[in-house]
Amino acid sequence: MTNPSELQAIVDAAHRAGAAECGKGRVASYIPALAEADPAQFGLAVRTVDGAAAEAGDVGRTFTFQSVSKVFALCHALAAHGAGVFDGMSVEPSGDAFHSIVRLEEEQGRPRNPYINAGAIMVSGLLPGETPDEKAGGLQAFLSGICDGEAFPVDEAVYRSESATGYRNRALANFMKHYGRIEDPRRAVETYFRQCSITLTARRLARLGLFLANRGVDPVTGDRIVAEGANRTVVALMAMCGLYDEVGRFAVNVGVPAKSGVSGAILAVVPGRMSIAAFGPALGPKGNSIAGMTALTHLSEGLGLSLWG
Ligand code: GLN
Repeated sequence: MTNPSELQAIVDAAHRAGAAECGKGRVASYIPALAEADPAQFGLAVRTVDGAAAEAGDVGRTFTFQSVSKVFALCHALAAHGAGVFDGMSVEPSGDAFHSIVRLEEEQGRPRNPYINAGAIMVSGLLPGETPDEKAGGLQAFLSGICDGEAFPVDEAVYRSESATGYRNRALANFMKHYGRIEDPRRAVETYFRQCSITLTARRLARLGLFLANRGVDPVTGDRIVAEGANRTVVALMAMCGLYDEVGRFAVNVGVPAKSGVSGAILAVVPGRMSIAAFGPALGPKGNSIAGMTALTHLSEGLGLSLWG
């Protein structure tokens, strides 16, 4: 059993270590609305499969989902289509930045994995529904269903900002369309922009991620969220591809599956044990939260989390 006061002390120490690093990073500015974030914010939330919780810092602060949404979109798409989701894409790490197009050309429009932007846009296009609103709305309902019926609204200002500037993502979608890999690039990419603009907090992200640490069953309600095999796929891909071209460093320093986003969120999953959400919008050079990376390294050491021994 997790000892709650010991857990809280380790979370507090990890939070202090992370917060001390915020000044070294920069908030994302290529999506103009994200540039408004306060780089000094930092929150850390932990939920264990056996019912313990610990939090420190800005865990109630709202941010947009960004690339962490890709994990939940994949769950939702797998629930709707099964393994057919992977017909048009691989399950290999890319070693490239999240928005890279180079390998997409070399590999005839076939994304390396569902967590780089190209693969995620393909998954967004597969979400149930006709319009971007319906597709993203279905994902919002999926999240509410996991999280005690709470609402997950889209930040319309971030969505508009992303849609107004997202030509690189449109290029990825059009490229995949050129190779006949997706149906409707506009619909896929607008859905993707909406799903990235869904709002949540670190506290809710840790709650949302619990089923991923528990073979696809939410340990709070006992509800099965995704099939066990699908859950294994989603989590394995986090370990291999969740932090883009920093995934190796993360494996060495932290050693658990995780997914990051440019709003500064990181969701880490420790199979059989816990989910951890960090939110700190100051990013390092690879686009991952600098405070989040540091705090997760401390947590991993303090709690013995690394899966690699
Ligand atoms: N919406 C962002 C983009 O497409 C998500 C990227 C990220 O969080 N890494 O650029």
